[in-house]
Amino acid sequence: KYLITEYGITDVSYNTWLRPLKIYDVVDHVITILINDERIGPPSLNVIRNKYELLLKVSIEEVMNEPYEIKFVLQSQIDSVEKMAEPVTSKKKPNDQTFLNARYTFDTFVVGGNNEFARAAALAVAENPGEIYNPLFIYGGVGLGKTHLMHSIAHFVLNQNPDTKVLYVTSEKFTNELIEAIQKKTTMQFREKYRSIDILLIDDIQFIIGKESTQEEFFHTFNTLHESKKQIIISSDRPPKEMLTLEDRLRSRFEHGLMADIQSPDYETRMAILKKKEELDGYKIDEEVLRYIATNIKSNIRELEGALTKIVAFSRLKKRELNVLLAEEALQDIISPNEKKVITPELIVEVVAEHHNISPSEIYSKDKSRNISYPRQIAMYLCRRLTDLSVTEIGKILGNRDHSTVLHGYDKVSKDIAKDSSLHNTIDVLIKKINPE
Ligand code: ADP
Ligand code: MG
Repeated sequence: KYLITEYGITDVSYNTWLRPLKIYDVVDHVITILINDERIGPPSLNVIRNKYELLLKVSIEEVMNEPYEIKFVLQSQIDSVEKMAEPVTSKKKPNDQTFLNARYTFDTFVVGGNNEFARAAALAVAENPGEIYNPLFIYGGVGLGKTHLMHSIAHFVLNQNPDTKVLYVTSEKFTNELIEAIQKKTTMQFREKYRSIDILLIDDIQFIIGKESTQEEFFHTFNTLHESKKQIIISSDRPPKEMLTLEDRLRSRFEHGLMADIQSPDYETRMAILKKKEELDGYKIDEEVLRYIATNIKSNIRELEGALTKIVAFSRLKKRELNVLLAEEALQDIISPNEKKVITPELIVEVVAEHHNISPSEIYSKDKSRNISYPRQIAMYLCRRLTDLSVTEIGKILGNRDHSTVLHGYDKVSKDIAKDSSLHNTIDVLIKKINPE
């Protein structure tokens, strides 16, 4: 990165084209770079090829002291492999189902408190398709395992009975196919295709809401399948009741089945997922490094896994030992500031002031009355305890006071806490407010 900026590329160009690039893979002397064309659009590949490929090559060679070949892969290509959907007929063996990610099975799905209900529901449906919970509606935030669970159901069913007609489709793909069918006047075939299957999995249904014609078509498809006891599995990033433009009749159909949500994983589950990935990819990584990732990346499993891949690539690329230091460096762009909560003196002052019913400006002021100066000393104490700032810096921020004043305040409050259990309590409450968790 620093090498590239040294070549006089403007910040704008750098941030637009180069910064979003990710290393997808490093094999021998070939680096595959992932271009997120979904975010910056289709021209990105051309621009990057024409303008930056050579530069990237040179920079990589400078860093690595060895030439590397560069290849590019587009995010949309990766996604389309996942999304490719054709009904599966008995002629194909289960392993040939390219539209299903072979890795998304129940075996590789780590169970935690956040997802155990959804997983149990998915398994129950896979074991008894069309019989107990129909539809199954799985919902939860991005990157929490909805698609993984849906593919797991499909794999399971096909393993039990390769003749089952399973169709996994994203609602986007469903929509596009429908639009195309309308244009080409092939809606009959479209209906035929969707109504002749045994198990329909529709991923990310939120994309069909708001589009009346697709909702209508989907409603009929849904009813036909449902009436003939064919299993329907739907995923969404939110529950039906929060899908504002969802027609009531569809909403009530969805809510009639089983709804299962997936929440963010807790720390133990995050560790277990990382270990699973380590095992599947054949990595050997220090526990400490895994803990670092699991501590800092909390809400999205895709990012959690991406972080692991990234540090492995980083360490291979730079031929450096994979330790926490390297992980910190490799992940500085991923670990976003709101996940890595930064405690600032300003935040501390705000919380302390509010608790004592005074205003932050009084804490910064020269006011020496005890009802102001004591909260101020508490703020000094907390700044010293909760931030990495020096006493000099703390003094400067808290109204231009010198470091001995801060030290004195810190000592005073420390001693008081030892004698006064209610103050001890107050401090604990303040710390929880400043740094919830
Ligand atoms: P969603 O569809 O909810 O956005 P995905 O199913 O695509 O999320 O999951 C994102 C990534 O995280 C995938 O690589 C998936 O395999 C992985 N993942 C999610 N949940 C789990 C889990 N419980 N165990 C193992 N891997 C998981
Ligand atoms: Mg998904």
